[in-house]
Amino acid sequence: MDLKNKLLLENKKNFNICVIGAGHVGLVVSAGLAKLGHKVVCVDNNRKKIVLLKRLSLTFFEPGLESLVREGVKRGRLYFSYNLAEGIKNSEVIFIAVGTPPKEDGSVDLTSIENVCRVIARNLNSYKVIIEKSTVPVHTGEKVKETISRYKKKKNVSFDVVSNPEFLREGSAVYDFFNPSRIVLGVESQRAERILRAIYKNLKTTLLVTDINTAELIKHACNSFLATKLSFINAISRICDLAGANVERVAEGMGLDPRIGRDFLKAGVGFGGFCLPKDIDAFIHLSEKLGYNFSLLKEVKKINQEQKSYFVEKIKECLWVLKDKRIAVFGLSFKPGTDDMRFSPSIDIIESLVKEKALLFLYDPQSIGEAKRVFSGLATKKIKFFKEPYSAVKGCDCLCLLTEWEEFNRLNFKKIKSLMRYSLIADGRNFLDKEKLEKLGFKYIGIGR
Ligand code: NAD
Repeated sequence: MDLKNKLLLENKKNFNICVIGAGHVGLVVSAGLAKLGHKVVCVDNNRKKIVLLKRLSLTFFEPGLESLVREGVKRGRLYFSYNLAEGIKNSEVIFIAVGTPPKEDGSVDLTSIENVCRVIARNLNSYKVIIEKSTVPVHTGEKVKETISRYKKKKNVSFDVVSNPEFLREGSAVYDFFNPSRIVLGVESQRAERILRAIYKNLKTTLLVTDINTAELIKHACNSFLATKLSFINAISRICDLAGANVERVAEGMGLDPRIGRDFLKAGVGFGGFCLPKDIDAFIHLSEKLGYNFSLLKEVKKINQEQKSYFVEKIKECLWVLKDKRIAVFGLSFKPGTDDMRFSPSIDIIESLVKEKALLFLYDPQSIGEAKRVFSGLATKKIKFFKEPYSAVKGCDCLCLLTEWEEFNRLNFKKIKSLMRYSLIADGRNFLDKEKLEKLGFKYIGIGR
């Protein structure tokens, strides 16, 4: 019976898929797979989230996602549920897209992955392909297999595990789903490979098939390399400041070399988000466990941390004592196009400024709601939140820019200058037009610029 199921499954074009985790990755993957023609149930153990999703209300901002979700639901291809058991039983393919947060020591907390494996085991009623979408340390696939085998109730039912790391970027996640730079498949059986190829057949890109350990390692290697590039240019920015050179032009000169490339050579206050910081920590930890001291990555992390304090020091150099200085902070999410503030550099910078007893006036086009939650523990009298930028800068001594939202370049800086008490702009992303601002009478500080 199981063999018959397997053969039927291999010849299918569209699949019944269960995506576990309705977060930044899970929801995009669910809606994307539904658009590709599959029937998808997206399950999550956060009931509130599922109740909202059933009402077509998204819990985070991602361009283009809401309409994609609506379309999937309208076409009857996308459902939401908090019943994991039912979701698993009724599906042939299961994507695991739950969170893998960092522990205190930098290693990955795999509790959610393990929990999900046990639920899958209990409800494994027919052959299924189980896909790791979450970013996990190498050898997790082996643990997934071991755990499901150990706890499965029906001992004669088989399954395959696949590692299919996700490379989408928040802010352009929907675009990235349909236009992936590559699809990496870590497989242990040809059957699983054929099924995965069929699932993604309408996406035109390179498919790289490896073993599971290699696929898991590819994801960590990619994020670590990207983080290294960013810390490298940030280190160069410090030298530029010391030498009186311009890091923007240095990056341009480097990026024109095709062996180097332009991407991820943007100096600033450092990287954040739910991927790079935790994934380099995890890779450092994992390498150490395997017997390799990845000191390069430790330095990458250190440079990233220092970049934030360096920026605060630059503001202090200009404003001297920060106590009671009024500082407007524009841009709180870790990058533009998202309201995600997880590990955003803005958090450390704002905490440092609050420690110095500055008064802060925060504005972000999308993440003010999230910021109120993040900073609820801080001395709230020192922080005010604004829905529009011009009220935020009123009477301020400094405007500090931490995220390069496109709309910041369209602001009326003449008006801003007239509203500020002292017109210092601290551009933590080297994003604004320095010359134009200086012509308007602003004092401008960037990073290595
Ligand atoms: P997220 O926090 O936005 O979403 C995770 C979801 O999983 C949450 O909705 C949570 O309620 C749910 N969940 C947790 N435990 C569960 C359980 N036992 N059963 C059912 N649902 C459960 O996280 P995310 O940003 O989507 O990241 C998910 C994974 O993908 C992580 O491993 C992350 O490193 C990786 N990743 C993230 C990105 C990104 O840009 N956010 C990109 C690539 C890879």
